Amino acid sequence: MTTVPFSGSAKMGLLASGWYANALEGQTFPGVLALCYHGVRASADDDPGMPFANLHVFEETFAAQCRMIAETCHPIDLATFCEARATGRELPRRPVLMTFDDGYRSVFELARPILLQHHIPATMFVCSEPIRDQRLFWFDAVARALGPDAVNEARALPHEGWRAVARKHETSASTAPTLAPMTAAHVRQLADEGFTIGVHTASHAPLAGASSDVQRRELQSCRAALEEWTGRSVSTLAYPFGAPSTDYDEETVTVAGSLGFSAGFTTRSGFARPDEPALERSRFVVLAAVTVAEPAHRIAYAWPR
Ligand SMILES: [Zn+2]
Repeated sequence: MTTVPFSGSAKMGLLASGWYANALEGQTFPGVLALCYHGVRASADDDPGMPFANLHVFEETFAAQCRMIAETCHPIDLATFCEARATGRELPRRPVLMTFDDGYRSVFELARPILLQHHIPATMFVCSEPIRDQRLFWFDAVARALGPDAVNEARALPHEGWRAVARKHETSASTAPTLAPMTAAHVRQLADEGFTIGVHTASHAPLAGASSDVQRRELQSCRAALEEWTGRSVSTLAYPFGAPSTDYDEETVTVAGSLGFSAGFTTRSGFARPDEPALERSRFVVLAAVTVAEPAHRIAYAWPR
């Protein structure tokens, strides 16, 4: 890891001057740079009190990140990633895999046009129940009602306790449009346009410690809904919250394997290297707090390699 202590404005200058593009030119990534996004928002005025605001990147920042990635890296789709990992086939030198967790409508409305404009393939890992029922994701609903600490408390409960909290705070998506999930028609359209759709469980339940029956149901019921909506087979997933041991466990990986999933993504930070287990791939989570230039800086220098 190289530390280059430049200020934010210095990084903007370096980005504008093509410094990062030059720095990247000679680099070969040690694996695939899988980026994990969540929602996208138009501006800070858009729902200023939104919970977990850092997970909703600004549209303008996202557009600049996409431009930089298209100009300096090699975006690949998930099928290419899986095929390369299964066969050992070589990938381009700076492969980037864009992923979006949860299934926020803002990804359809704001990120999708930018991705299409730059011809960047992407995968959306989505939860079927909020989409089917047009409800807020449980963690957004609980955070709006009780604050973000209550979400962490609920995540730590045994499965039935968690479910009771989630049920109690079920909230119609129409109450908070910036946090609304996509519709099934959006999912269908994304698949028709060439985006990959993957499983993120039915309800975004914390999986670690849940029984294998519960875990199986969460994965299978989401997959069945996505296959019905898209008319395509679905064989990839991202674990809710995504931290190994804390958010999913060995049982989760065993269940996913027994259901025939071919690729699974975590939020363990790192390049998705060839020697990682197929069902536990690493990703870098992209937060809203980073400037336009920051991802370029991190890609070129700071992310561990
Ligand atoms: Zn999620």
